[in-house]
Amino acid sequence: MNIVLIAPPASGKGTQAKMLKDKYNLYHLSTGDLLRNISKDGSELGIKVKSIIDEGKLIDDDLMIEIVKEKIYSIKSNGIIFDGFPRTLNQAIKLDEMLKEINKKIDNVIVLEIDKEIALKRSIGRVACSNCGNIYNIYFDDLKNPLKCNNCNNELIKRNDDTEEKFNLRFDSYVKNSKKLIEYYEKKNIVNFVSSLNDKETVFAEIKNIINRG
Ligand code: AMP
Repeated sequence: MNIVLIAPPASGKGTQAKMLKDKYNLYHLSTGDLLRNISKDGSELGIKVKSIIDEGKLIDDDLMIEIVKEKIYSIKSNGIIFDGFPRTLNQAIKLDEMLKEINKKIDNVIVLEIDKEIALKRSIGRVACSNCGNIYNIYFDDLKNPLKCNNCNNELIKRNDDTEEKFNLRFDSYVKNSKKLIEYYEKKNIVNFVSSLNDKETVFAEIKNIINRG
């Protein structure tokens, strides 16, 4: 089972992807996480990737496709949850070609929907644990210590692109690119829309229903 999650920034995409991974034993392929790791390695590529992410822009398609290709050919799992890829129509077409080569396909596309104002609040309040990766919101979550993770007590950090200015750029880029992407998958009849306004368990229950319907 291969699933694509399409969603605006700060809509809970990463959280739902992790829940799906645990429930269905899938490989969680987050291109945002992959790129953030590359950006930390100090290489020339890492420095370039970091500046693009920090500006709230998209990495170019060729590089993105290369990175994903290398990953999906090496993954041995029940299936993959694609979190943050594809983000453009070109990436979606190339992903289908790559999967076809290994006799696989995308079975389900989940589109999370959220209002821009609410996503903005989620973005500027978002912090993640530097150790276990748990994600919190300083406005909505009950943190025992505002700077420490409730789960493992390690430092909570904020993403450089979680500012109002960068959020606006990322949201607008999402609106521009996702339309054609969703239309592409709608022609294949594999798209389902889920409201991301509810709490994460309710959103997840809806996603599970969609997946179990097959
Ligand atoms: P995310 O964690 O999914 O919000 O991604 C963080 C950032 O990584 C994005 O704002 C982009 O700069 C970059 N990125 C992630 N996935 C892609 C992709 N499929 N294509 C281009 N850029 C990407």
